[in-house]
Amino acid sequence: MSSTRDEKAARIRHFLATEGDAVAEGTRGFNAGRYESVARLDDYEELKDRARAIKEDAIERLPELVDQLRESVEANGGTLYVADDADDANRYIREVAERKDAETLVKSKSMTTEELEVNDALQSDGVDVVETDLGEWVIQLADEAPSHIVAPAIHKSREGIADLFEATFDTEEPLETAEELTAFAREKLGERIAEADVGMTGANFIAADSGTLLLVTSEGNARKSAVVPDTHVAVAGVEKIVPSVTDFQPFVELIGRSGTGQDITSYISLLTPPVDSPTVEFDDPDVPMTAGGTERDGSSVPSRTSDREFHLVLVDNGRMAMREDEQLKETLYCIRCSACANSCGNFQSVGGHAFGGETYSGGIATGWETGIEGLDVAAEFNDLCTGCSRCVNACPVKIDIPWINTVVRDRINRGEGGRLDFLVEGLTPDAEPGGLDLGKRFFGNFSTVAKLGSATAPVSNWLAGTRPARRLLAETVGVDPRRELPAFRRETFRAWFERRGGSEVPQARARREAVVYPDLYTNHVQVERGKAAVKTLEALGVHVVVPDVPSSGRAPLSQGMVSTAEGHAHEVYAALAEHIDADRDVVVVEPSDLAMFRREYEKFLAPKSFERLDMHSYEVMEYVYGLLHAGAESTLLSAPDERDADERDADDAGVAYHSHCQQRTLGLESYTVAVLEDLGYDVVTSETECCGMAGSFGYKREYYELSMDVGEPIREQFEAADAADRAVVASGTSCLEQLDALLSRPTQHPVELVAPR
Ligand code: SF4
Repeated sequence: MSSTRDEKAARIRHFLATEGDAVAEGTRGFNAGRYESVARLDDYEELKDRARAIKEDAIERLPELVDQLRESVEANGGTLYVADDADDANRYIREVAERKDAETLVKSKSMTTEELEVNDALQSDGVDVVETDLGEWVIQLADEAPSHIVAPAIHKSREGIADLFEATFDTEEPLETAEELTAFAREKLGERIAEADVGMTGANFIAADSGTLLLVTSEGNARKSAVVPDTHVAVAGVEKIVPSVTDFQPFVELIGRSGTGQDITSYISLLTPPVDSPTVEFDDPDVPMTAGGTERDGSSVPSRTSDREFHLVLVDNGRMAMREDEQLKETLYCIRCSACANSCGNFQSVGGHAFGGETYSGGIATGWETGIEGLDVAAEFNDLCTGCSRCVNACPVKIDIPWINTVVRDRINRGEGGRLDFLVEGLTPDAEPGGLDLGKRFFGNFSTVAKLGSATAPVSNWLAGTRPARRLLAETVGVDPRRELPAFRRETFRAWFERRGGSEVPQARARREAVVYPDLYTNHVQVERGKAAVKTLEALGVHVVVPDVPSSGRAPLSQGMVSTAEGHAHEVYAALAEHIDADRDVVVVEPSDLAMFRREYEKFLAPKSFERLDMHSYEVMEYVYGLLHAGAESTLLSAPDERDADERDADDAGVAYHSHCQQRTLGLESYTVAVLEDLGYDVVTSETECCGMAGSFGYKREYYELSMDVGEPIREQFEAADAADRAVVASGTSCLEQLDALLSRPTQHPVELVAPR
């Protein structure tokens, strides 16, 4: 049974208050580091393409690679065990520990062992399990779960960790600085590693052709855990296999940059256990670590590895079934770098204890938890992905994380109450089952709501604002009473265009012809930006048409109503095809709709149709930029005060600009900035990934407080002294609504700023 809205709201409020600040500081730091680090790479996109290709190939050939890896591990003298599930894996590991009479087992960081709950299994046999990664050790001492897949204790402050150490170890001296805390941990963990009977590690990648493990860590504890005890158990998901050691290269380049923003992670360890792995001999510390072999002078060096034992436990636990699932399969390409979590506005505010399942957290967690634990677990946090798509470009293996979240949302929608489908069949304007949450159906069918709202405005706006109506909206569909509702316009954008008699630029005199797409919000709510788009394009010599084209399907897609969205895609293409045939450009004001045309429609339309729409569609300021650079006269647009820059009020030209998440993912923010700067505006852009509104997300009462928290950094930036007097512009409907709620000054779309007065 999924949580109620009130329960979800309370849970989010709790994590915002208790863990939000520490998570925000850590993840935003990682995220900023990622931007800086990847900017230093000339071949970032090429590296991502190579990494993606290796994973695609490896997952395609997985059964064959498992066989090859088994041969390699056995030839090295180790053992490979493929565990069907967590119980099977734990049984095998417990047997190894029992055979070794293990009293203490030291572990390096491994999310797969978290997934298996291997610590509990071993501890029930009396084995003392010690986490040796500092973050993992902290949460083990605190008896908590990781809140981040790379930095498990990111939710804890330095002061909190100091208190924990003092309470646990009754330390003589107070531990205050990060250095003191780290030195204390190193000493304690060093003692435990030295006395351990078994060492356990994960593996970031495993080469099938040699049995070599690649371990990427920040503290070097994995290396110690692997080689100090004479028995090494490595536990990894079966998806970690790649064909060869040479395939490690792009991942080594990408994993640290993507996750923590480091050009290279502190410790990169390649081990080929049980042989060829240098080991430490504490009884003979002056002799260098060696795997044995032959010196240059021909003398032989004894191997210390002959009596070593190595077990590689490859875990299936749902992965092979995910491999057969066309929609979840991409999850297996994940290298667990955490970039999707760090770049996510919601994750930055609440962290993985709210935005996560049994083990995994962040954007890709929906895929992992669905495949491993099931839809019920994913359902508890899946809605925290708003589909903003900021993770898409951050992912080093180019996983379409929002799409996985959308597909899972669709499955969740269909999984509950489907037996009542017949009750609503034919009664709703969508193609969804009867068990669908009423709030999702309301927001997913917002185009119908908007049509009714405009047809009956202003009564509809007055009525919706009354106290009983707000209460009803809150109770039935979950609209938060603190949100101002959009005001529907009686005269829609299309009606205005028809009333004025069409385009003021005759076809015969036009430099180009364009459709201005009457998206749902521009048509019914943000009508002024539609008018501004028409006037701007006409000023630059474009003959404009505003045909009757259905809404893009963004609203239903964001609720996981995939079939309904697909229906919209086909209708939109059918309506626009004749204009594309007539060589008209398609100009889109709302960035989330352009993203549908350029990204999501690829899933719905025939390849040729998708390609045609993609090639002919432009974001409005991208289009203006193209016209200006093709020779259109910019003086017809509105520029800052024409007086000499020294004389005019400096604030006249100041603009604070927040572009839309989808627009940034498509790489289109720069066009707006370039047009504004070409016209003489002085532009500062927002530094946050997302404003927090994300379509209907910020309207939902369970998420209202989170939405406002995500938007807070923009408020701080735009109210700071150097931006407080600037005109605020934003490209997306949601962004404008959120900025209206966050700021006390007016907002507008950039095209309204530049349109001829
Ligand atoms: S989905 Fe991509 S960005 Fe997210 S953790 Fe996996 S590899 Fe990293």
